[in-house]
Amino acid sequence: MSEKIIIFDSTLRDGAQAEGISFSVEDKIRVMETLDKIGVDYIEAGNPGSNPKDIEFFNRIKGMQLKHAKLVAFGSTRRGGIAVEEDANLKAILETQTPAVAIFGKSWTFHITDIIKTTLEENLRMIEETMAYLKAKGKDVTFDAEHFFDGYKNDPVYAIESLLAAQAGGADCLALCDTNGGTLPVEIQEIVTDVRKKLDIPLGIHCHNDSGVAVANSLMAVQAGARQVQGTFLGYGERCGNANLSSIIPNLQLKLGYNCLAEDELLKLTSSAIRIAEISNYILSGREPFVGKSAFAHKGGMHIDAVMKNPASFEHVPPESVGNERRILMSEVSGRSTIIQLINEVDPSLTKKSEETTRVMDRIKELEYQGYQFEGAESSVKLLIRKELGKYKPFFTLEDFKTIGEQPHTKEGLSSSAVVKINVDGQSEINAAEGDGPVNALDKALRKALEVFFPKISEVRLTDFKVRVIDSKAATASKVRVLIESSDGVDIWTNVGVSTDVIEASLIALIDSIEYKLLNDMERKLKEYKLM
Ligand SMILES: [Zn+2]
Repeated sequence: MSEKIIIFDSTLRDGAQAEGISFSVEDKIRVMETLDKIGVDYIEAGNPGSNPKDIEFFNRIKGMQLKHAKLVAFGSTRRGGIAVEEDANLKAILETQTPAVAIFGKSWTFHITDIIKTTLEENLRMIEETMAYLKAKGKDVTFDAEHFFDGYKNDPVYAIESLLAAQAGGADCLALCDTNGGTLPVEIQEIVTDVRKKLDIPLGIHCHNDSGVAVANSLMAVQAGARQVQGTFLGYGERCGNANLSSIIPNLQLKLGYNCLAEDELLKLTSSAIRIAEISNYILSGREPFVGKSAFAHKGGMHIDAVMKNPASFEHVPPESVGNERRILMSEVSGRSTIIQLINEVDPSLTKKSEETTRVMDRIKELEYQGYQFEGAESSVKLLIRKELGKYKPFFTLEDFKTIGEQPHTKEGLSSSAVVKINVDGQSEINAAEGDGPVNALDKALRKALEVFFPKISEVRLTDFKVRVIDSKAATASKVRVLIESSDGVDIWTNVGVSTDVIEASLIALIDSIEYKLLNDMERKLKEYKLM
C-alpha cells in the first residue's frame, strides 16, 4: 500500500482571497460538496473571526454530513497579553463546531517585533497555549507556521522554536508556509529535511506561487518528508495564487506513487476542476495541466500519427486517468488519420480507405472552403460525422425564428427580443424571450422552448462566444465565423457556425451545441444502461 498524503484544500479560505473571486454562501456550499465528493481530507472553509460571511456559512452547514472530508475553521493564535479563553477569534472558531481547526502563528522574528509588536517569548506562549486550549476542546489542530521559510532563512533557531512550541501544545500537524511565495524548490527540500530531524509530529506544506514554483515546492516538500499538502483547486489565491492541488494530486499519485485520493476519485479531477472554475466565475484555461481542455490535445499531423500508434509518444499520463480526454484537433493539415479516430467512435468497422471516410473528408473540406474551422470544435465534427454516416436523427427542428431590435432599450437594458418555433416529434412549441442583443435573445427563447421537452437543457450555459470576420476562399460577401463554448458543469464543448449573417452563424453554432448536449446525454445514458 502506497503512503498516504493528506490533502488539505483551502479553496474556500485562501482561494477566496483571489482577485475577482467572491463566493456567496451558496457558492461555498457547492464548492464544499464538490471537494468532498472528490475525496480531499480537509476542507478549510473560512475565517469566522474576521469575516461575517464565513460565520453565516458555518451556521448554515452546522449538522451537514460530509462523506469523507473534515471541515476546518481557520484563525490565528490568541492575541498577545490576554488569556486564550478571552480571545474573541478563538471563541468564533469554537462556535463553528468544526472537527478540525487550522491556526496560524508567527515564525519570523521580524513579523513578531515589527508587525504584531510583541516579544519573542510571548509569541511562543501564544502558540503553545492556543494549541493546548484547542486540543483540550477535542479539536484536530494544524499549526500553520506563517512565513516559516523566510523566518528560517533569517533565524533558524527561533523558527524551529516556534514549531516546538506548537508541538509542545499538542498540535497534530505543523504546516510550513511559504507565505510570500519567494522560496525555491531546492531551498524547500533542504529546510524541510532539516526541520523533520528536529520534530516528531507530521509536517505539512503550504506554498504560494509568487515565483511560479508552488507546485514544484509542494512536491519537493513531500519528497523531503511532509505528509500534508495544503493548496487550492486550480491554484486560486491572492496575488499569484496558491499551490495548485489539481496539479499536485495527480503528480503525487500517478508519478511519485503516493496515495492522495482513491483511484475512482482521481477520475473526477477534471470535472471537479470545471465545476469549481464555474462556481468561481473563472474561465478554466485550456492550458491548465491535467484538467485543461488542451492538456491532451494534439494538432501537428506527425504528432497525431504518433499518438494514434501509441499515446505515450506525446502524453505524460493517460488523459482518462484524471478524467480528461484526448482531443485530436481538426485542421487541414491533419488529414484522414485524425478523422478516422472520430469515425470509429461511431462505426468501428470503417477504415481510412472506406468510401464513408472519403465522404466525411470531402464534406469537411467543403465546409473548410466555406470558412469553417474545426480546430477546437470537434463536437461539431462529431455531429457532422453522424449526419454523413446516416446515424443521426435531430432531436428537434427549428421551424421559424424572428429577432426584433428594441430602441430605446427596455428598462432592464435589454436591447432585443426573439421568437422561436421548434418542432419535436411533430409537436410544436413557440417561445419568446428578451435578451442583451439578438443572439442572447435567440439563445434564451430557444432554450425555453426546448426545456419543455428536454429539461436537462437548463444545465447548459454559454461560457464563451467569439465572432471572427473571415476571408472565405469561395465567397464574394464577407462571412463571419462564430465559435460558441458551452458547459453543463461536467463537460465543456465548442461548436462553430459560418454565414454571411452573424445571427444565422450564431444560430447554427447554438443548435449544434444543444444537439451535442442532447446526444452526449443520450450516449452517456446508453453506456450506463449497458454497464448495468
Ligand atoms: Zn496562504
